[in-house]
Amino acid sequence: MQAQPLIIYIEDNLDNQRLVQRVLGARGYELLLAEDGPAGLALARAHSPALILVDLGIEGLDGYETTTRLKGMPHLVTTPIIALTADSSLGSRERALAAGCDGFLAKPIDVRLLPQQLAEFIGGKREALPSALEAPMLRAYSHKLVERLEQQVRELTAANAELQELDRLKSQFLGSLSHELRTPLTSMLGYLELLNRGMLGTLNEVQREAVAVMSRGAEQLSRQINNLLYLQEVRSAQLQRTPTSLDALLRRLSDEVAAQARHTDVALTLDLPQQAPAPIDADEQALSLGLRHLIENAVKFNASGGTAQVALSDEGERAVIRVADTGIGIPADALEKIFLPFYQVDSSLARQHAGSGLGLAIARHVVEAHGGQLTVRSALGLGSVFTAVFPR
Ligand code: ADP
Repeated sequence: MQAQPLIIYIEDNLDNQRLVQRVLGARGYELLLAEDGPAGLALARAHSPALILVDLGIEGLDGYETTTRLKGMPHLVTTPIIALTADSSLGSRERALAAGCDGFLAKPIDVRLLPQQLAEFIGGKREALPSALEAPMLRAYSHKLVERLEQQVRELTAANAELQELDRLKSQFLGSLSHELRTPLTSMLGYLELLNRGMLGTLNEVQREAVAVMSRGAEQLSRQINNLLYLQEVRSAQLQRTPTSLDALLRRLSDEVAAQARHTDVALTLDLPQQAPAPIDADEQALSLGLRHLIENAVKFNASGGTAQVALSDEGERAVIRVADTGIGIPADALEKIFLPFYQVDSSLARQHAGSGLGLAIARHVVEAHGGQLTVRSALGLGSVFTAVFPR
């Protein structure tokens, strides 16, 4: 059986799409529809149609520009591209031919004639510009193209400037918000510490428990504010490098996250080399902020009964930290996005896990600032492994 000739029809009007579909379908053509220029170009790239029908009045990349682009595709050099337009003004046919069309059909579509007209173009018929008109029409068309380009560049530049300004305002807002929040929080943390130490009088059991709950909440708030401040300020500051022992650092961080792991019934394990590895030159505070997020996430995005393993290996020229979990895993299309500030796989208000989406952005930044690399492998529903490699 012979394959049906394929026609691509680029048209934004649904009624016209249906009409042409019905008429050509009845004549044994296969019709692929695109509702704008870019979609039509994508279809044309993926197929070798017998003919392309383009409505010149489509929005965005218009029919003329779409045709010019189609004509530039090597596999379509001999494919007839036929303009369809309601524009009956003087010179509209010539403008279409100058843009690269091989034929011109006026709207409204005459359904009795259309199949025969298209068959003629598929059979080899071509309309051409009279040679005397060719040069002036092409010049006029290229002027119009450059004008459109200029307009687009102007609009994009203005939109870009607006976005940069909005981004600057957002950073300024986040910066001042963090400062505003930190000042009162610092005094709260100070007084909570005094209460904890019994320096403001002896507390009974219930009061001690209440103060402990408030302290945990205030420390969590303080960490979130530090995350925001890190992205706003510390990121651009110089690292304060000193010899840092990674095993001691990981031991401390694991201890800090242990309560959270116990609370959610996740087995948190730490696997360190038998012999303490030589220290690396690092900013301990920044490193601890970044690595803590990896360990916290391995516990947080886990299920009751799961495991979170932190391992350090000394590989001569490099120290490698792996944080592996048996948690919910990360979808493949989110594996790079999770390192962007504020990105969360589940960003709905009803999500199960608290967080601001800054942890991994900070972790990656800190690791890279030390000349290292932070990568992830993950399988949805099975777990994830984050690997930080530090050169010595
Ligand atoms: P936060 O934890 O505050 O949401 P992060 O920047 O630390 O932000 O992480 C970004 C997102 O990446 C998380 O919201 C989560 O969707 C995903 N993610 C990070 N770590 C893990 C992990 N170990 N397992 C599954 N998903 C993770």
